[in-house]
Amino acid sequence: MLGAMDAWGLKGRPAGPKPVLRGTQPATRVVVLGGGLAGLITAHELRKLDYDARVLEARDWAGGLTWTVRRGAEHTEIGGGRQVCTFDEGQYINVGAWRIPHSDEGILGYCKELGVPLELFVNSDDANYFYDENPALGPLAGKRVRLREVKADLWGATTELLAKAMNQGDIDAPLSDADKELLVQFLVRSGYLDRADYVYRPPASRGSDDVYDLSALLRSGFGARARSLNQETDGPAPLFQPIGDMQQIAFGFQRVLGDRLTLGAEVRSIRQANDEVRVVYRDTRTGDQHELVADYCVACLPMSVLKTLQVDFSPEMRQAVSETGHSSVAKMGLQMRRRFWEEDDGIFGWHLWAPSLQMGEFSYPCNGYFGDKGVLLGFYGSSTQAGLDQRTVAERVEHVLTQASKVHPQMREELESAYSVWWEKVPYSVGGYGRSPSPELLERLSTPDRRLYLASACVSRDPSWMEGAVEAAWRAVEDIHARVSRS
Ligand SMILES: Cc1cc2nc3c(=O)[nH]c(=O)nc-3n(C[C@H](O)[C@H](O)[C@H](O)COP(=O)(O)OP(=O)(O)OC[C@H]3O[C@@H](n4cnc5c(N)ncnc54)[C@H](O)[C@@H]3O)c2cc1C
Repeated sequence: MLGAMDAWGLKGRPAGPKPVLRGTQPATRVVVLGGGLAGLITAHELRKLDYDARVLEARDWAGGLTWTVRRGAEHTEIGGGRQVCTFDEGQYINVGAWRIPHSDEGILGYCKELGVPLELFVNSDDANYFYDENPALGPLAGKRVRLREVKADLWGATTELLAKAMNQGDIDAPLSDADKELLVQFLVRSGYLDRADYVYRPPASRGSDDVYDLSALLRSGFGARARSLNQETDGPAPLFQPIGDMQQIAFGFQRVLGDRLTLGAEVRSIRQANDEVRVVYRDTRTGDQHELVADYCVACLPMSVLKTLQVDFSPEMRQAVSETGHSSVAKMGLQMRRRFWEEDDGIFGWHLWAPSLQMGEFSYPCNGYFGDKGVLLGFYGSSTQAGLDQRTVAERVEHVLTQASKVHPQMREELESAYSVWWEKVPYSVGGYGRSPSPELLERLSTPDRRLYLASACVSRDPSWMEGAVEAAWRAVEDIHARVSRS
């Protein structure tokens, strides 16, 4: 759906241009709630303007939905089910955000500012498999088919038909004879046709001469992933990822914020008076309650959490917050003893396309190439697929092993450990990225409620991308600074 929205230009635009703000306000106290990217960016930008800004974050780490699970990471699901990550040192899985489109200039700008190095995120690999068990596919049902085979054969068959029709004068193209000849040359070259008879002759890079039947390929729907330009859910290439892991961005903000970021501070209530805001939070280590008084409060909490707190909202804002929603999305990382997808299959990133297996996007890592081990993204999609939200962690892993083994029979033998994150079961998130608000709802959510501003990515045109967090943070900082500068 996101891919289609992007193609039609409906996906939220990048957050920019970044507001240019001047002047300092050292006497103004702002408490920022939530140390996800939106909260970190808000505090960082306010600090640049010399505000007395501080962040309260419930977890003992920063980053929110940009969490990277590595050795020692742990969480207990709401409703039970405790996991501790036992991946090897250096192995990791980005269980939230994992890729950055090159157009997301806001978040990429922060990577540059904070010195977070980037590498390419591979979002296309001709070696990857399609696999679909649907019997309607005929001869292709239950068969591993490579993207390079689909691309070559679909292009080959289509260009062959066109070139032959042109040769017979059956195409009524508004072109001169010279241009028609150039078009035939283009079809011959791009489709790997024989110049003499315009018959498709598969190139060596296809891997074999065993060409698939055009009708079967068309019925497979695989062609949807063999388009002229890659416009999938990833967005157009190139995409990037931080070297190390996605949480490096949050750690960069944490470094510059220093003691302005308080971890283990679980916000319980937000009270507003005419001239101040009072936030009560619980120290998660000691259990002690504290109160912080500020001139303004910027809540960058997930809406799912904000709804449950004691907050002095106006009736309009309470209604607006109640209308927001979060996605049910989940990811699972599987550490493999051996990078068999590279060694045995020649796959170096991107996804397996296997909708009938109900694993969402099963993806191969694009870091640590040719190393001894690697972490596969065994599952990324709706958490309710195959009823997995009702199953134990072990049962979810079993589902992925059973299904993925149909494509990669090495899975069971090579698995060392797994970690699964079903975001609606994760405390302090209680859901994945926010659902896109309607323009009217976004307008209501982004209008300050007396001294309270909402600025999580949920309050943006693009909640499912980090750029949404940038957009929301920039708007809140700009609004507060304009208000304080006026007063
Ligand atoms: C599975 C998944 C995949 C994604 N993939 C991508 C991607 O590839 N690229 C991309 O750009 N974006 C991606 N996103 C979206 C991106 O991660 C989010 O848009 C962004 O990180 C949201 O930031 P935020 O600060 O608004 O919210 P959050 O990250 O949710 O931060 C909220 C913070 O509030 C804290 N908090 C909660 N309750 C309390 C409390 N009571 N007191 C104090 N603190 C509290 C939380 O611990 C958290 O740190 C993905 C998200 C998910 C879930």
